[in-house]
Amino acid sequence: MFSRAHKALVALFFFHAPFGQCRVNTIIRDVAIIGGGASGTFSAVRLRDEGKSVVLIEKENILGGHVNTYQDPVTGTTVDYGVEIFHDMQIVKDYFNRLNVSWAIEVLGPRSSAPDYLDGNTGQTVKYKAPNPVAGLIAYAEQLSKYLNIGLGFFLPDPVPDDFLLPFGQFLAKYPDIGNATYTIFSYGQGLGNFLDQPTLYVFKNFGLDIIQGISSGFLVTTSSDNYEIYDHATKLLGSDVLLSSRVVSTQYRGDHGVELDIETPTGTQVVIAKKLLIAIPQKLNNMNRFALDTREANVFREFGNSGYYTSLVRNTGLPANFTSYSVSPDTPYNIPRLPGVYDVVPTAIHGVFDVKYGSPHSVPDGFVRKQILSYIKKLQANGFAENVSGDPEFVAFKSHTPFELTVSRDKIANGFYKDFYSLQGHRNTWYTGAALHTQDSSLIWNFTESYVLPELLK
Ligand SMILES: Cc1cc2nc3c(=O)[nH]c(=O)nc-3n(C[C@H](O)[C@H](O)[C@H](O)COP(=O)(O)OP(=O)(O)OC[C@H]3O[C@@H](n4cnc5c(N)ncnc54)[C@H](O)[C@@H]3O)c2cc1C
Repeated sequence: MFSRAHKALVALFFFHAPFGQCRVNTIIRDVAIIGGGASGTFSAVRLRDEGKSVVLIEKENILGGHVNTYQDPVTGTTVDYGVEIFHDMQIVKDYFNRLNVSWAIEVLGPRSSAPDYLDGNTGQTVKYKAPNPVAGLIAYAEQLSKYLNIGLGFFLPDPVPDDFLLPFGQFLAKYPDIGNATYTIFSYGQGLGNFLDQPTLYVFKNFGLDIIQGISSGFLVTTSSDNYEIYDHATKLLGSDVLLSSRVVSTQYRGDHGVELDIETPTGTQVVIAKKLLIAIPQKLNNMNRFALDTREANVFREFGNSGYYTSLVRNTGLPANFTSYSVSPDTPYNIPRLPGVYDVVPTAIHGVFDVKYGSPHSVPDGFVRKQILSYIKKLQANGFAENVSGDPEFVAFKSHTPFELTVSRDKIANGFYKDFYSLQGHRNTWYTGAALHTQDSSLIWNFTESYVLPELLK
């Protein structure tokens, strides 16, 4: 058997070998990118445009990560039931222009002028009157404005401010002027799990000044209402540099000379040898264990917990075409609904098809969520919201987005977790990007990647 050191030398040789001399099934690139969601696809396109050779390895059979677009087979109408909106930022416009994706700025109105506020578990009406959030949002923005750097990444003051560590419910008790904006912040921050228990830092990151700006002056949307277009065009542009339905099965070498990875693909095992590695998948320990982690790396990744976030399209509900419900709880602070449970049921552009979102503080099995969603629709029918029920509700589409929000404990935040995480950039010729390094927001992640990650990969 060859030793690891010998393999490293072989890898080094490959970097200088003309392609014809390489092993069959060996892919040699400047940068290997793992994960073809928002951050990985953006990185692949940008690095290629800057003259680097890349390979993008994605476990699913399409690129796009949390982007889910359903096309109605009868009318051709498309519905985005995953990622919907982007920020009015130059980097987003440049990226979309590069991919030939047409965009517009749209001020989002309320989805319904008279939504039903229902208990997200029982489907019963809750006496709830949505407060005007404006004064609360201004008070919230005042607090956020003290920490502009966190809009760019996890660039935390040292020491970490106590307010960042307070559970968000306690932060609201400390700054009662924000109270009326709580449900608005919650509804944009779907997927955060137990929202009032999360350290305020994560709420600040999730609902930052860019979101407040977007609410007032508009978000960027694709004019086709088909966000998959971004990834369809990227897939075509990247061509054979994309390996779909593929994953790393083992890491032969990762260090000063680059990386050597064994990749399982639909056509068999391939070896990828690259000068640099960019990891753009959720960096949870169980998703990282094929990368031959050292203790320093494992000690960072093992700290992540996660929430669960699920999205679906349901038809045959019997609900009126414009039925819209938002979940609230009759007896929790600020009426924030208890999870696991349904977030909301909203109509889509396809007649009779409703978008139903579901959240949990932790991962739960897909089968459980599917049952819960269908049983919730039946509760709505039993509670008299349906007009004409015939047959059972059924899924047009369902997607688990678990693991979603990656978070660590308050103690870990206070003790420098994000410094330790960021200090891994470049360690063993490996870099990281994606939501765990910033927040669940494609536009902001692209900005982070462009500003702080790509310059290192372009050296
Ligand atoms: C329902 C929903 C709605 C959202 N709406 C918006 C929105 O409107 N606007 C917005 O800006 N953001 C939105 N987000 C958040 C946004 O999608 C994320 O912030 C963004 O996708 C994160 O990018 P990422 O590259 O970190 O991860 P992802 O986009 O999740 O990409 C990770 C990729 O890695 C792949 N992968 C995972 N493990 C492996 C592995 N072992 N090997 C190979 N590949 C792997 C995954 O399949 C995925 O394609 C939404 C998210 C969800 C779930």
